[in-house]
Amino acid sequence: MSNPMPAIFMAHGNPMHALRTNRFTESWRRLGSGLPKPEAILAVSAHWYIQESSVTGSDAPETLHDFHGFPPELSRVGYPAPGSPALAERVRELLRPAEVVRNDHRGLDHGVWAVLCHLFPDADIPVVQLSIDSTKAPAHHFDTGRRLAPLRDEGVLVLASGNIVHNLRAYRWQSPSAEPYDWALRFEAASRRLIADGQGRRLVDYLDLGEDARLSSPTPDHFLPLLYILGLQREGDAVSFPVEGIEGGSLSMLSVRIG
Ligand code: ZN
Repeated sequence: MSNPMPAIFMAHGNPMHALRTNRFTESWRRLGSGLPKPEAILAVSAHWYIQESSVTGSDAPETLHDFHGFPPELSRVGYPAPGSPALAERVRELLRPAEVVRNDHRGLDHGVWAVLCHLFPDADIPVVQLSIDSTKAPAHHFDTGRRLAPLRDEGVLVLASGNIVHNLRAYRWQSPSAEPYDWALRFEAASRRLIADGQGRRLVDYLDLGEDARLSSPTPDHFLPLLYILGLQREGDAVSFPVEGIEGGSLSMLSVRIG
């Protein structure tokens, strides 16, 4: 039997990375070229955070330009990867008895394509996206990751996209290389330590880390994707951090590779 596929938490940051070449996108390219080619990708993104569990069922998901205030060329970026109705069905089966609604109209949001366009620029691997159910507590998201674990043995790369530290109120848009805030550094380091020590389950209670956690993740949407990946972790899996850095003072670009 071949090795299980890795599972990856990608920090997506500013959508403009889709058009740029910089230290982050170079790391993404290196990461992508070093991965075994998946049969399909299951993506979970901060930008599909809705009040139900839903999965994309289209065989040709469109590229969603789900942002405002960015230059028009960003809205011209397309990521024409096929979908996979078969993988959508497999996800629904694995998560039963929970009801996962199949949505044949929803495309891929920028949390997905802005990183995939660097990881897998050929856009030839089928991509399915699973929503984050905003009505559920953090433990549910960790548990959902755990229930998706068989996909790793079926050639599916689970890719979750968010940011461990994501405070846009504090973000310095004009100064990407601004010094990180102390609370951002502390929360990122605490999270990283737990993940590296195989204690990722403890991040289900990330708000227990106090004021640093509340400032770093003032809303859950960008943090929760990480819990899916930690739920997919198996004993003995290697853990690495293929991308790191804090952008604009308050946006962590730390990515996590399991396996
Ligand atoms: Zn985002």
